[in-house]
Amino acid sequence: MFVAEPSRGLRSWAVVMASSPTIAPPWLKAFLNILNLEEGHGFNDTAVVGGLDKFVQRWSQEMTEKAHDVRLARRLLGTSYSGLPSKEREAWANQWLRILDAGSTEPMANTGNEPSKKVEKNPRSKGVKPSRTQDTETKTSQKFREPPTSLTVDDPVNQLRGVDAKLSARFKKLDVTSIRDLLYLFPRRHLDYSQATKIADLTAGQECTVMATVWEAHVISRGPQGRRKDTEAVLSDNSGNVRAVWFGQRYMAQTLKPNAKVAISGKTSIFNGQLVFQSPEYEVLSTSQAPIHTGRLVPVYPLTEGLTGRNVRRLAWQALQEWLGGVEELLPQEMLASTGLMPLQAAIQQAHYPDGPDAWAGARRRLAFDELVTLQLAVLSRRTTQQQGIQGVPIHGGSKVLRGFLDSLPFDLTGAQKRCIQQILGDMERGTPPMNRLLQGEVGSGKTVVALAALLASAASGYQGAFMVPTEILAEQHFQTVTRLLSGLASPAKEDNLVTVYVEPLARSVTVGLMTGSTKIARKRELTKMAAAGSLDILIGTHALIQQGVSLPKLAMAVADEQHRFGVLQRSALRQKSDESPHTLIMSATPIPRTLSMTFYGDLDISNLDELPAGRQEISTRWLPPERREAAYGFVKKQIEAGRQGFIICPLVEESESIETKAATEEYHRLSQEVFPELRLGLLHGRMVSKEKDLVMRQFRDGALDLLVSTSVVEVGIDIANATVMMIEGADRFGLAQLHQFRGRVGRGEHKSYCLLLSDSPSEVAQERLSALERIHDGFKLAEVDLELRGPGDFFGTRQSGLANLRMAKLSDRELLELARTEAARIKDEDPELSLPQHAALASQVVRFLQLVADETS
Ligand code: ADP
Ligand code: MG
Repeated sequence: MFVAEPSRGLRSWAVVMASSPTIAPPWLKAFLNILNLEEGHGFNDTAVVGGLDKFVQRWSQEMTEKAHDVRLARRLLGTSYSGLPSKEREAWANQWLRILDAGSTEPMANTGNEPSKKVEKNPRSKGVKPSRTQDTETKTSQKFREPPTSLTVDDPVNQLRGVDAKLSARFKKLDVTSIRDLLYLFPRRHLDYSQATKIADLTAGQECTVMATVWEAHVISRGPQGRRKDTEAVLSDNSGNVRAVWFGQRYMAQTLKPNAKVAISGKTSIFNGQLVFQSPEYEVLSTSQAPIHTGRLVPVYPLTEGLTGRNVRRLAWQALQEWLGGVEELLPQEMLASTGLMPLQAAIQQAHYPDGPDAWAGARRRLAFDELVTLQLAVLSRRTTQQQGIQGVPIHGGSKVLRGFLDSLPFDLTGAQKRCIQQILGDMERGTPPMNRLLQGEVGSGKTVVALAALLASAASGYQGAFMVPTEILAEQHFQTVTRLLSGLASPAKEDNLVTVYVEPLARSVTVGLMTGSTKIARKRELTKMAAAGSLDILIGTHALIQQGVSLPKLAMAVADEQHRFGVLQRSALRQKSDESPHTLIMSATPIPRTLSMTFYGDLDISNLDELPAGRQEISTRWLPPERREAAYGFVKKQIEAGRQGFIICPLVEESESIETKAATEEYHRLSQEVFPELRLGLLHGRMVSKEKDLVMRQFRDGALDLLVSTSVVEVGIDIANATVMMIEGADRFGLAQLHQFRGRVGRGEHKSYCLLLSDSPSEVAQERLSALERIHDGFKLAEVDLELRGPGDFFGTRQSGLANLRMAKLSDRELLELARTEAARIKDEDPELSLPQHAALASQVVRFLQLVADETS
């Protein structure tokens, strides 16, 4: 969470969309994402902090190069997006889509993690005749017409009237190829046009619908040389009349025949002192058909070039009317009855065209449940397959050595540490299936000792262990800690990268090596040789370990610290280093609320270190208004005069690391020259290479610096006992979990420690966050609060929120998560292989889900 590196761990769980085999450059993906977001926000230029123009400027050269129509690209580049009225912004976006896309077969309109991707498609069980599944649907309150026989909902979308090859291709960009896909293309939101307003009662700026008669409609030429053709109409009801304009849409003049009855939905604005609708939604009303664009809750679908909202609405409506009967119910009838969830067909109907807010909520609940129960079943069956037929290494007899080790520690283990060690040793003793465990524990809860116990147990049995950490300095720190902890056992033979401890009860020695990117070549070679020969018992290092082809033939225990920086890929790479199937222990200091961890780490067993060692002092936390900044500096100075050290964290700048770096550098100079001229300050930011970062961290660790000015890159897990004060500028910009992590950098020694939060103008939510931080010192509780306040995307950090690909499920919806877990467990108990007929539809859904996960991680 402290490093600008996307975690693959969560993504691989939750990203379930087939990652499009795209060769699109990252900026293009980002751009397409932005456009989709913009569409979702009604083109209000909020998708990019600071405005979309900034993004476009940054990439103008690449955009021009990639464009198929360079002249148009230049013209678009010459237009300020922020300066356009929102209706024209849509056209601007569409033009970009067209010229960046033409002639390419890549699916482009839909990349990255935005919600228009579907999470799961339904099983494509060919030959499932809709008529048959209809029979099982007797409890559905609404009846939907069956599609024509011999056709199924899995037939291509061009079976719909009015869909030609061109339109099919456009749908493909939204990942819609079959009719079923279209049924699962849920609107991202709805416009409430359900209440008709009298024209006389219209007020500017409000979303509304009027039912009116067309008086007149005609084309008006505007723009340079009158090239743009707008349609202007006058509409009336018995209370008055109002103007409507459709920009660039001359055909509207034909559509709106005088005396036709129409419904118009949108916002009115005031122009020349008169109310006017600008490019509103419209619908020519007929007596035989319900309106789909106006006069109700109207769906707003994801954007892609050449597919208008009206088009998608019309076709989705057609699919709903004529094909929905072919969608088979996924859930067994008893489950529907016991959970009270809405039947699937009704839910799909209501997700598109809800009767009202409650109906929509019920539909969302049902569809979200499907997503979660599928995820949960997939995780559970993944666990089964992972364990099937894999022989682990049974590790016995470590306990004797361990007793010696634990006795030698200068402190007593906490109850939680003892419990976790027991759980881990239990797994190891059992051997098969190999341990696959997550050790979660607050900063300072003492995870390292627990890990070391596991590593020692495997060494005592003659196997090797590896301890992987994300950064060099952390690797060094662990090596030192391990050396320190082991030195109680016996006096070790020591070199700077290698330590050997003679362990009495074993009558042999245990050798621990440290290998990082900056380890000298000769030493590295030696370590590698020892590792391969099996004479190195424990290897501590960065993931350079993996990349540099170290082989650990007797690896039985792999520990990964600060898990959120490691992906599944790296974990499995480490597994392949061995002839054995090693036990794995993943450690994380980012507390994840139980409901979430059960869902997303459902294939892992979880141990919680939910107790801090005795005598830990609470870090006194204060949120200060800006006018107290000087006083805060004074406080920091006092701490340093007393011999302590401190951190100053600069505000998070989301637009770019280079701006952030610039701001941090300026702040560093300002602080060094104006505020703390007599102190030794260091600077740490994301643009520094890891060697430079390590150097600064080392200087700070060794006391050569008093104050460390840092962006959010300051290391996770780093242990500097003498640091007692942390000042966080722009505290409102960080998430709670992250603030709590920062705070954990102090209070690691004997001295009373402080955390000062500064924030110029925190929003209401930010105020709640900051005061929560003052009050609450337990990371798990804070994580719960964070989840309540912000939702999972923010909680995990946006870079990791592959979770956004759950389309309907919200992870803050704990009750539903629990329900999905319980039901999934019930199904697994009753029918482990999902082979019963009533689980067939779910089974194919799970298979498909797992396939997507496999594609994602392969
Ligand atoms: P974290 O869980 O954040 O990785 P560490 O393992 O780095 O925590 O432990 C933090 C500090 O607490 C270390 O100096 C460690 O030696 C010490 N420690 C660990 N367990 C205990 C304990 N039971 N009692 C006292 N100190 C402990
Ligand atoms: Mg740690």
